[in-house]
Amino acid sequence: MDVPNRRVDVPGGTGRAVRVRAGERIRVIDVEGGQVGDVFAFASDGEHHSAAHTRTHTRRLFPAVGEQFLTDRRRPILTLVSDTSPGEHDMLVAACDPARYALLGAPEHRSCAANLREALAAVGHPHSGPTPQPINVFMRIPVGADGSLTWLPALSAAGDAITFRAELDAVVVVSSCPMDIVGINRGAPSPLVVEVFA
Ligand SMILES: [Zn+2]
Repeated sequence: MDVPNRRVDVPGGTGRAVRVRAGERIRVIDVEGGQVGDVFAFASDGEHHSAAHTRTHTRRLFPAVGEQFLTDRRRPILTLVSDTSPGEHDMLVAACDPARYALLGAPEHRSCAANLREALAAVGHPHSGPTPQPINVFMRIPVGADGSLTWLPALSAAGDAITFRAELDAVVVVSSCPMDIVGINRGAPSPLVVEVFA
């Protein structure tokens, strides 16, 4: 059994950042089950994971084990190495942000976009650009035959985990999505844990 060299608790509805070296693995654990996590990855100089560039590279809408995630400069930054969840993860939907909650009638609500800024600032990696589109782990957004999208509750069970390998030195941010208005999480936001392995 691998022993992590770092472990970061991500309380429900909040975000945390962890600095990783190329070659390290990052495991995101859904502690109680049914919780979506927004995952962002930044290299230096503003380079970051890009869902659009990744989909172009993998020719798929959603992540699959063995596939790489590309930056906006088309360099691999993460690889999906293992997944104990049912395997549904979204890579189409924008992070929730204050404007999204304002449209839902809750302008003061916490958001993944704000969690990202706070988490990056906490490790001294300020990001002034737009919020990158995240890897929404455990999030279920099936695509209909007519191209329509459906928001469904996460199916992940307590203890389910998805593991990435860093391909570049990076800052990885994980936000426990605070969405409790649209039913993607199971009830109130619940905690995630990030473990890093050599
Ligand atoms: Zn969110």
